[in-house]
Amino acid sequence: MSRYAHPAGQRHADVLPEDNPPSPPADLDQLDPRVWPHTAARVGGEITVGGIGVTALAEEYGTPLFVLDEDDFRARARDYRNAFADAGADVYYAGKALLTKAVARWVMEEGLKLDVCSGGELAVALAAGVPAERIGMHGNNKSEAELARAVEVGVGRIVIDSFDEIERLDRLAARQGKVPEVLIRVTTGVEAHTHEFVATAHDDQKFGLSLNTGAAADAVRRVLESAHLSLVGLHSHIGSQIFDMAGFEMAARRLTEFLTLVHTEHGVLLPELDLGGGLGIAYVPGDTPLEPKAIAEALLDIVQHECKAHDLPVPRIAVEPGRAIAGPCGITVYEVGTIKDVEGIRSYVSVDGGMSDNIRTSLYGSEYTCSLASRTGDGDPVLSRLVGKHCESGDIVVRDLYLPSDLRTGDLVAVAATGAYCHSMASNYNHLPRPAVVAVRGGESRTLVRRETEEDLLRLDVG
Ligand SMILES: *Cc1c(COP(=O)(O)O)cnc(C)c1O
Repeated sequence: MSRYAHPAGQRHADVLPEDNPPSPPADLDQLDPRVWPHTAARVGGEITVGGIGVTALAEEYGTPLFVLDEDDFRARARDYRNAFADAGADVYYAGKALLTKAVARWVMEEGLKLDVCSGGELAVALAAGVPAERIGMHGNNKSEAELARAVEVGVGRIVIDSFDEIERLDRLAARQGKVPEVLIRVTTGVEAHTHEFVATAHDDQKFGLSLNTGAAADAVRRVLESAHLSLVGLHSHIGSQIFDMAGFEMAARRLTEFLTLVHTEHGVLLPELDLGGGLGIAYVPGDTPLEPKAIAEALLDIVQHECKAHDLPVPRIAVEPGRAIAGPCGITVYEVGTIKDVEGIRSYVSVDGGMSDNIRTSLYGSEYTCSLASRTGDGDPVLSRLVGKHCESGDIVVRDLYLPSDLRTGDLVAVAATGAYCHSMASNYNHLPRPAVVAVRGGESRTLVRRETEEDLLRLDVG
């Protein structure tokens, strides 16, 4: 048998769609409030957000366009702050989900702290006027320059991620005559996504210092020995798009055991425990994320219970939601271009952006909800795939969706829950200028990040 020949079943699978598409929704025009921004509505058939129709927004700012519901963002940030502040816990908004100067100011005004994980993110936070002591800094490979800047401006928490970094930071702090407060990022052996978590030794990855191998204990020893670093706690981040608390429970248990060990070995009670981010949101109807209140109660319960069992004082807890705050408040508006029916399979609907403004579908196989936005449709639901304009067959924005059969070129469609990790992961692939980010609120809109132009692209090309 030639090595190119496939068993019959497998050959069959090569030509059939690899998955079973969902059935059409009962109502194509309905906006599920779990998935769409708080203020999203249909007015005269058209989708409006923050009291403004997508057609007017597209006319003013062009497409593709990121639209942020400012009230929604603020409400979600506030819900987290309130849920955790009651228990004396800190909420760091994870800036990598979406960071602009305005977003950083919203985060501050709503009483949260802010996580950054690069010099660029730190620069945006500082430019927005975020006080350095309210910033936490992450990263598995922070450069000398990034660390020096963090120490110089007085970043509140630096999360140490390697032995090299202990040395670097110790040296830089000594040179500047400062004693930065640091956490050690610990890999607990727990990895969680959606409803599943694995509590095996997940040590084969780049982040953190392993509990299992003893690297974490070693790091604690070295940081405690440093006269220029002040160890205030431990950090753990177990995954993303998590819908239940089981993984956090396991991680909290392992961290508390480790806190006990540190206490026994060094006589030190570390006062802070940062449990990271990763809280899930609804991308499609049927996703059921937890409410901040429930998350806060569960986390605090777990930590209190574990500390009691080990006779330890309860440390100050911190969490770092990114997606859960920024994700649901954003939509992307696209203009429909070519529509291609692949006979007997589905309709390929091309939009004027794609993997350059939303890489998540091709990177992670993420699911999204999309709706005809400039009007309601009259036709029957047609199984479709929303694709971009890039030179890749994997350039898919929404893998399976239904759009009305009367969809035509020039219509606007909107993809929901694109506030997190879309703008922040955007690229210039195929030299597409990146879309603008616009905030809407109370019937008004304003540009947060302006659309790139071909001039912007050429300005950097100095050869
Ligand atoms: C990515 C990340 C977060 C935020 O994750 P979300 O899934 O957006 O909540 C928080 N903390 C750390 C350390 C991260 O790497």
